[in-house]
Amino acid sequence: MGEGSSSAADRAWRRRVRGWLAEAGDAVVSVFFPGGCRICDELLLSADRVPICDQCLFSFAATPEECCEICGQALWGATLKEDEPLVCRACQQKTYAFERARSYGIYDKALVNAILLLKWERMEPLGTWFAERLAEMVRRERGVLAADIVVPVPLHRDRERQRGYNQAGLISNPLARRLGLPHKAVLLMRTRPRPDKQVLSLEERWESVRGAFATRPGSQVDNKRVLLVDDVMTTGATLDACARALLESGAKSVIGLTVARAARNPLPAPESGNL
Ligand SMILES: [Zn+2]
Ligand SMILES: [Zn+2]
Repeated sequence: MGEGSSSAADRAWRRRVRGWLAEAGDAVVSVFFPGGCRICDELLLSADRVPICDQCLFSFAATPEECCEICGQALWGATLKEDEPLVCRACQQKTYAFERARSYGIYDKALVNAILLLKWERMEPLGTWFAERLAEMVRRERGVLAADIVVPVPLHRDRERQRGYNQAGLISNPLARRLGLPHKAVLLMRTRPRPDKQVLSLEERWESVRGAFATRPGSQVDNKRVLLVDDVMTTGATLDACARALLESGAKSVIGLTVARAARNPLPAPESGNL
């Protein structure tokens, strides 16, 4: 039997299962998710609001325990020593203006697909699901991740108008609700757009965001501890530029929180052994 016929049989099987579920009164599954899991196409058996199967959701790679105490960068192979903080090279050189950063998972495989769904298809239930994971992280590290307000990393207004929404806001808004903190969606603005070039070098990434953010005149940020939220942290340059704008306007501290984190060391000359 060829592959074509087995997938035809598979499709027929899925149709039958959907029929049974619909008969059983769980019609919502076949109505809302006729395409199955949006990442692997597996049939979704429960009427969960996130159209991604459990197998995909639980395949997201968590950030390892061996990570930089300040920026949360994964430091695979590093040994955790008692009474000795694990600090990456970028943080030893005091690269970032934010006080700390944390991410839910490594930007890889299914998590890349999930972020793309959030970013391009405005998948709000997925934003809420991510917000729940981030809220759990904040509660776990309550001491060092405490904040007064939640702020999403903004898009330039032209970009946001084009897309119709800011994907960071799809995470930060439900996160603020879960933490019982005010959500300040328009406090920070991007004053200079991202360059049109698709792929930026490391230096270009830092250059493109330097001074590209500012707080809106009259916004109340004085002495506030800010939880700054974005979908992905790659080099840390964006969170850093936002943090600088917030601190210049009088914020007390800034903590970066992202759903995903690039696995590689963000410095131009990565330390061998940390890859
Ligand atoms: Zn799946
Ligand atoms: Zn670090």
